[in-house]
Amino acid sequence: MALKLFDSLTRQTRELAPAAPDGVFRFYNCGPTVYAPAHIGNFRTFIVNDVLRRLLDLEFPGKVKHVRNLTDVDDRTIGQARAERRPLAEITRHWTALFHADCAALNLLVPHVEPTATGHIPEQVEMIDVLLQKGNAYRSADGSVYFKITSFPQYGALSRIRERELKVTNTAFDADHKDDVGDFALWKAYKPEEDGDVRWPGPGGAFEGRPGWHIECSAMIRRHLGETIDLHTGGVDLLFPHHENEIAQSECCTGTTFARHWYHSEHLLVDGTTMSKSKGNYYTLGDLVAKGYSPTAVRYALLSGHPRKQLNFTLDSLHAAESALKALRRFAQGLGPAGSAEPSALFDPVIRALEDDLNTPAALGALFSAVNAHAPGNAAADRAALDRALGVLGLDLTPPASGAPSAPAEVEDLARRRWEAKKARDFAAADHIRAEIAAAGWSMLDSKDGYRLEPAKKA
Ligand code: AMP
Ligand code: ZN
Repeated sequence: MALKLFDSLTRQTRELAPAAPDGVFRFYNCGPTVYAPAHIGNFRTFIVNDVLRRLLDLEFPGKVKHVRNLTDVDDRTIGQARAERRPLAEITRHWTALFHADCAALNLLVPHVEPTATGHIPEQVEMIDVLLQKGNAYRSADGSVYFKITSFPQYGALSRIRERELKVTNTAFDADHKDDVGDFALWKAYKPEEDGDVRWPGPGGAFEGRPGWHIECSAMIRRHLGETIDLHTGGVDLLFPHHENEIAQSECCTGTTFARHWYHSEHLLVDGTTMSKSKGNYYTLGDLVAKGYSPTAVRYALLSGHPRKQLNFTLDSLHAAESALKALRRFAQGLGPAGSAEPSALFDPVIRALEDDLNTPAALGALFSAVNAHAPGNAAADRAALDRALGVLGLDLTPPASGAPSAPAEVEDLARRRWEAKKARDFAAADHIRAEIAAAGWSMLDSKDGYRLEPAKKA
């Protein structure tokens, strides 16, 4: 069966296939903004995209190019750097390292390219120059550059936002210096009181400032995947205005189709509202690991709801996930190792459910139906089939280490002192103690309301 996925643009479930003659499937996934811990809501989106990546790898072996960016300059990252009185790059480096540690714990495949916004300023400026030349953008009195949405008649096709709604939505931000409330910033003129030392030469080689948020994805896609990609994804909150704006910028710049297929996954909720960094109502992976849950159980629980439906997060769902994983481990052990056997068809319904619009709850259901219906036969072939199904879901059955290795008392003591220093906003002392912890061979991973110590990874 072919891989079918709902497309937010046509609102139809459509087959996925590469368009370019080289047969490469070009896949872009909007990545995290690195100014705070990624919460498990963010990870719901990244895990869903990871299953998609694994399915694409299965469908188009060796032909998938996956790019996921890091937003390391925008209002939020700059705001955090100012609040902590530290250089922007130090803040974003810190949160990027933690994001990567959580991605590894959650068994996310590493994208083929993980570009940063600050690493692609010339590419963004170049696109803005083109948009200015073509008359799709204009410079405002303060030197900022805005995209003129009336210059792109298809604006709103993805979100089907009506003009009236557009006005209401947009009056909340950026109303200054624009010709039209719907216009959005491509380049933000330097404001010393807000931007500190964050600035680059702008379009036309003048007007120092920094890129608007939306242009980074357009520019990084053009650079790493080309003018047309096969699939563009993100959480549902990115559909408008972020993705609508990406389409407008890219299509006006290149004159061709930007993304052939759009996919948006729904949010993770806590107590009926969206889990979000700004609301502060979130769990990080570290919070849940500190409560004794395994990252694999977190991954399982986040896959237990249909990706295009909201999912309410509960600790009960983690309990359920831990027991499901225990049962799967028992079953796998009973089959013995796979060796080099060809997979049997036992777990094919798992793959079929995923190919049918990424139906992860149906896939988990099919996994257990097959386990329950299993009759002794060719154990090695069944084990190979189980491993393949689990591989696409990204569920690693290796039992969680019996208690993480514990740090020596003096390292624990340093960690406590560093945490106190950080809470007291004495970041110089906190950094100094972190270096001592590192010298002792440990890394300290911070979360919202706690930390954990892990043996430092060897370089
Ligand atoms: P951010 O770091 O805020 O740029 O978000 C990273 C990704 O997480 C984006 O694709 C968002 O759409 C997604 N996201 C944000 N909040 C949630 C949530 N509560 N549930 C699922 N995905 C989310
Ligand atoms: Zn994006």
